[in-house]
Amino acid sequence: GARNYSFMLRTKNPCGKVSNRLYLTMDDLADQFGIGTLRLTTRQTFQLHGVLKKDLKTVMSTLIKNMGSTLGACGDLNRNVLAPAAPFTRKDYQFAQQTAENIAALLTPQSGFYYDVWVDGEQVMTAEPPEVVKARNDNSHGTNFPESAEPIYGTQFLPRKFKIAVTVPTDNSVDILTNDIGVVVVTDDEGEPQGFNIYVGGGMGRTHRLETTFPRLGEPLGFVPKEDILYAVKAIVVTQREHGRRDDRKYSRMKYLIDSWGIEKFKSVVEQYYGKKFESFRELPEWEFKSYLGWHEQGDGSLFCGLHVDNGRIKGKMKTTLREIIGKYDLSVRLTPNQNIILCDIRNSWKRPITTALAQAGLLHPRYVDPLNLTAMACPAFPLCPLAITEAERGIPDILKRVRATFEKVGLKYSESVVIRITGCPNGCARPYMAELGLVGDGPNSYQIWLGGNPSQTSLARTFMNKVKLQDLEKVLEPLFYHWKRRRQSKESFGDFTTRMGFEKLQELVDKWEGPVLAPSRYNLK
Ligand code: SF4
Repeated sequence: GARNYSFMLRTKNPCGKVSNRLYLTMDDLADQFGIGTLRLTTRQTFQLHGVLKKDLKTVMSTLIKNMGSTLGACGDLNRNVLAPAAPFTRKDYQFAQQTAENIAALLTPQSGFYYDVWVDGEQVMTAEPPEVVKARNDNSHGTNFPESAEPIYGTQFLPRKFKIAVTVPTDNSVDILTNDIGVVVVTDDEGEPQGFNIYVGGGMGRTHRLETTFPRLGEPLGFVPKEDILYAVKAIVVTQREHGRRDDRKYSRMKYLIDSWGIEKFKSVVEQYYGKKFESFRELPEWEFKSYLGWHEQGDGSLFCGLHVDNGRIKGKMKTTLREIIGKYDLSVRLTPNQNIILCDIRNSWKRPITTALAQAGLLHPRYVDPLNLTAMACPAFPLCPLAITEAERGIPDILKRVRATFEKVGLKYSESVVIRITGCPNGCARPYMAELGLVGDGPNSYQIWLGGNPSQTSLARTFMNKVKLQDLEKVLEPLFYHWKRRRQSKESFGDFTTRMGFEKLQELVDKWEGPVLAPSRYNLK
């Protein structure tokens, strides 16, 4: 008989923007056709797991008719474009979000095939800004496939998936340096947007035991005036389309092209398609990770409230409570790149009843959530991802508890935290290579340990140890945390500490470890 194939469906939501209607639709679909839970992803989208083949058309058409889309959420093309999820009305934030939406529209597949298949040809698309249409169709530097239905992607699309994020200076809620293209709004002294700094060549994915594959941070390419951004992005995408490797998928992300050419050659090829020279990269202040948890002012008299979602999985009491609040107050929501959710456009008078409802469901930070959980991420892995080698989402709650217990054992305070990210395979969907402590599945119940990322997500971690069995984690973590506690410089983060000490020294400390030497006062307690 026919097999009951089950599908994972992923939406596309530039900037993580989700209308009230779409949220309620997704919530219903999860119950009717999914596994009763909603999964938020690290690219500000929803994943619906467990949709059966026979239900696929119903689910897709429901989604599309309720202003959702899955077009370009998977495959060798531009994926969901990230931007800070906070609904601030500040000019630079608005401009970053608008730019993210324009870039997403620019790089959306053009053929009507998607709508033919799922909604019988009915076009449900919203009108595109004229500057997007103009930039897409502009062929003045030979960037287009004129005969193709896809002026930018042509017939072959890109060699591999492609990721873009847009943000404003200091706000690194989007992990800007992990994207193929990172775009940063540059404003003048009055806060008026002038143009964009562009980074290129970030990417997380790698292959085990293959040193020629690696995670990589984006590097500065240059600055463009604001009216040129779509042309600059298109020129970069076309450079990758024409020159990215297509013979081996392991090496087809744009980071490998830039790595083999060097940034200067890459820049000069992009400039030929762009038709101009890049201006020099503007100086930027330090990056900071922003979580947006809790209550904040939007800037227009309304409030927003960021809620932590463990591993992005909305289920049980959280799911019903969110549905009630979002439905009752007609709220729109935003999904963050850290798999959390923001409730938007809340009037002052609603703050009390909403706070009460959230508190009753145990959803208010920080009283109910361990600081370790707030920055931790895990990918779905088993049983939902076919590439998984070992556990991630299902394993992380227990691992975080063990880390907390180890903190206590070596005398680290409850308020201390470390950015922990776990993935079930080296593909690195939860960006483990930017973590202070990254665990990357490399065998059944075993992980590679990565160290050296930092809390602001600006440095790349490196492999510290391979094949550490899950049950042996403390043998590595206890000495590391013990010496961090004893030897750190003032408020030095764990990531900065491991980088300063160097892996050779750390390895020695792990190898020699015989358990913590407790302070005399601790012995006296017995
Ligand atoms: Fe699947 Fe690997 Fe991505 Fe985890 S990191 S979701 S196991 S592909």
